[in-house]
Amino acid sequence: MTATSLRFSLVGVLALAAPLAAQSRPKQAPLLTRAERTAYTETSRYDDVMAFVRAVTRGQRRMRLTSFGYSFEGRSLPLVVVGNAGDASPDAVVRSGKLRVYIQANIHPGEAEGKEATLILLRRLAQGRHARWLDSLVLLVAPVFNPDGTERVTLTSRPLQNGPVGGAGQRANAQGLDLNRDFVKLETPEDRSQALFLDRYDPEVAVDLHTTDGTAHGYMLTYAEPLHPATDTGIVGLVRRDWLPAVTGAVKAKDGWDLWFYGNSGGEPVDRGGGGSAPGWYTFDHRPRFSENYWGLRNRAGILAETYSYATFEDRVRVTVRFLEELLDYAWAHASRIRAATLAADAHPIVGESLALRAQLHRGGDVQVLLGDVTEERNPYTGQRMLRRLEAQHATPMPDYTTFEGSEFERAPRAYLVPATFGAVLDRLSVHGIRTTRLPAPLVVATERFRIDSTWTTERPFQNHRERTVRGAWEEVRDTLPAGTVVVPVAQPLGRLVFVLLEPRSDDGLLDWNFFDEALAGARWYPVRRTFAAF
Ligand SMILES: [Zn+2]
Repeated sequence: MTATSLRFSLVGVLALAAPLAAQSRPKQAPLLTRAERTAYTETSRYDDVMAFVRAVTRGQRRMRLTSFGYSFEGRSLPLVVVGNAGDASPDAVVRSGKLRVYIQANIHPGEAEGKEATLILLRRLAQGRHARWLDSLVLLVAPVFNPDGTERVTLTSRPLQNGPVGGAGQRANAQGLDLNRDFVKLETPEDRSQALFLDRYDPEVAVDLHTTDGTAHGYMLTYAEPLHPATDTGIVGLVRRDWLPAVTGAVKAKDGWDLWFYGNSGGEPVDRGGGGSAPGWYTFDHRPRFSENYWGLRNRAGILAETYSYATFEDRVRVTVRFLEELLDYAWAHASRIRAATLAADAHPIVGESLALRAQLHRGGDVQVLLGDVTEERNPYTGQRMLRRLEAQHATPMPDYTTFEGSEFERAPRAYLVPATFGAVLDRLSVHGIRTTRLPAPLVVATERFRIDSTWTTERPFQNHRERTVRGAWEEVRDTLPAGTVVVPVAQPLGRLVFVLLEPRSDDGLLDWNFFDEALAGARWYPVRRTFAAF
């Protein structure tokens, strides 16, 4: 398909391109985001987003608006499908044969620029820009993944962030849960909706748009590849060594902005797992509760983007648009290679391989990090401090800690065996898209059961949980498994995810999230067995 075969609605394009001053009828008003209409004082509410995506897709043969699920309060999660697919259904999108790229904005509504940037990108597509992308790509754009949080606007949701000064939504969804900690346990309708969407549309690429809140540095946007050390190395290499550096070079050449791997300087790595007070450039976390790590363990090219919190809201929107444009240009040019990497990962047999269950930051080489300066401003409406980026950059040598290495390993078995009574566990396996079967009759087979030497939970609750850890060891046993036992084969495309969810020592598995707490009370063994035997 060539670029000239694209026929977007000419009327729509003219209306969108018409300058504001030339308007005589409201019908011809250019389609602007709420951020644009308010000189970047405000950000779009849910209804603004819905009005925009309805308008921008109207009359467009290659842009369709659909929904991929619901928020806790019942708001539909909009999905704009852009491409040469017959319709917006999963079947049509998959049948198109194009590389499927999912772009997710607004998981944290205070980090509002991803939402505005995806709307601007959709408008550019409607205007006929980037038409060649549709030769090899289908875009799946979710501009408002956390609608309930988006509606809970305050002027103080993001301390120190440089706007929007007219307020932005809250971080959590309406349940008070952080959607970017829920990708393993799936307790929110939003993340369940996404897991179901991934099962159906199976995007090879998935991008999650955020904003930093830490170190004053010299980058306009930072990013990360999937960080769990059990991720397929082909996927990680593609994103980290080739794709992100290419995007970085293109944005630097065209816009003059520096981009780099997400991190914070000094000994305070965000969230956990730090290196004490040693100087360094520290990334955040490897666990699949976070979006791009989860996508990576699904053998997909997950990409995290974090715009720089102290750049102005307008600049953050602009750099997000440019990052996405260069990211998509690369995807367009390398669609076959990206697809091949995901297919190779799906086909790679991990049974018998040693994979990481837990991880620690890896000390890479010494790198020159661009640190930055900020100046203080006040939000005129609240009087609260916020910071503003200055142009200065200070190249500062420090060790690189933007990757993780395994700190504990297990050999991936042939299958895990889950008793049929663990309904919540089986529900999560199903929603994650993991294939299972049931034993039709009792089976005598050599298995391993995990002996529990000790188990404890964290003192402080996190996301309504006290995360659990067990110590112990796998030991061999040969006995009869009852009919109905659920067999979870590891030799399937989601085998790495199976391993991380069901190994008891995994630092982000279902045991960690308390799915086995009742069964573990006073128990000698973890109830899930594993087997290396063929049966
Ligand atoms: Zn965020």
